Amino acid sequence: TTGKPDISREKSAELFEKAKTYFPGGVNSPVRAFKSVYGTPLFIQKGDGCHIWDADGNQFIDFCCSWGPLILGHNNARVREKVTEVMQNGMSFGAPTALENDLAELILKNNKYLEKIRFVSSGTEAVMSAIRLARGYTKRDKILKFEGCYHGHVDALLVKAGSGLVTFGETSSAGVPKSFADETIVVALNDREAIKKAFDEFKDQIAAVIIEPIPANNGLLLQEKEYLQFLREICTQNQTLLIFDEVISGFRVGFEGAAGFYQIKPDMVTYGKIIGGGLPVGAYGASKEVMSNISPEGPVYQAGTLSGNPVAMAAGIAQLTELLRLGFYRDLNGKTQEFTESIQRFATARSYKFKVFSVGSIFWFAFTDKESIRSAEEIEASSMEKFKLMHRELLNRGIYLGPSGYEVGFISAAHSKVELEKAKRAIFESLDLVFKK
Ligand code: PMP
Repeated sequence: TTGKPDISREKSAELFEKAKTYFPGGVNSPVRAFKSVYGTPLFIQKGDGCHIWDADGNQFIDFCCSWGPLILGHNNARVREKVTEVMQNGMSFGAPTALENDLAELILKNNKYLEKIRFVSSGTEAVMSAIRLARGYTKRDKILKFEGCYHGHVDALLVKAGSGLVTFGETSSAGVPKSFADETIVVALNDREAIKKAFDEFKDQIAAVIIEPIPANNGLLLQEKEYLQFLREICTQNQTLLIFDEVISGFRVGFEGAAGFYQIKPDMVTYGKIIGGGLPVGAYGASKEVMSNISPEGPVYQAGTLSGNPVAMAAGIAQLTELLRLGFYRDLNGKTQEFTESIQRFATARSYKFKVFSVGSIFWFAFTDKESIRSAEEIEASSMEKFKLMHRELLNRGIYLGPSGYEVGFISAAHSKVELEKAKRAIFESLDLVFKK
């Protein structure tokens, strides 16, 4: 009993069958396969503003926004025009262009936490390179990461907490040698003792601590500022580099990302998603001193045929220019706050076991009655059944959320108040159905 008939997925299903003959699981990135929600994945045909349309012609208000990059919404005119203009002169040279300078200047002039940057082509590549640089710079091998943070499919970071008290990691993917995992220490978020213990046990061996300062890949596990400050201090004491993986939070919670939001200076930062305006771009940055270790200035090798690609740079320049307009984040974050608070009020008034956690223009629907969730282990796996029901109800009402209850949602500048009101009504109806009112 779903209250509304399921949307038609005929064309999507047909495309998916074909895709399965070409790609493992029918997709080029796993979560797209809709494995943890109802039905076949929707094949998207078009996006405009806050809307997307699938192959069957269904229209949705999109809260996935390509998993974060589209902070201006789909097919933003300024981004499209800049990309189209730059493309007239060719698409790749493998030689420096002025556009790289322009994007770097936009970022560095407006970010007090970085002095130099290098562009790569994805978030994964940014993280992989940052870790190599941290190891090369400190001449140490071990990396410390947190359970519940995701940093792309970097070998050294496809590692989860092992069993027992010792903090050695176990690989979380086949194909990652155990010897790699042995170089990665995994601890729970929001646990100071675990960090102290790791630094005691591996004294002078930890090159870097890497964290999503706003963990947004396993629910939204908001940390307390004091905890992040504690990480800053313990890293400094141990001459370990603190890496903020800001692939999601960068340019999202503010132009200076989580570093600016919490006013904590990391030693290195990684970016992706928003920095490329929807095209494949990642970046990592640090002080001049740390960055001077990168080839050809220093001994740490890192390169890329399409790094700094002019078309991708153009998209990034156009998008970041918009973000620097006065009041951009105030409006976006204010709109999100109003949206999430009114959903929370609705759920609370009906005593539903449901919380909306949010920061900036990121939100997460959690089927819980906890006031805060700061570590992965606090999430009840059973709550994902409720998400699955809700996801179906929302699709049937024209609302598209990422197809997993562990994923966060994003609001873009293109989500108008009218569309957000529409979305709220659909969310209220879906919650009533999920909680069988
Ligand atoms: N780090 C974080 C925090 C991410 O959220 C992601 C992607 N979701 C990555 C790294 C990897 O980025 P990409 O998918 O562009 O390789």
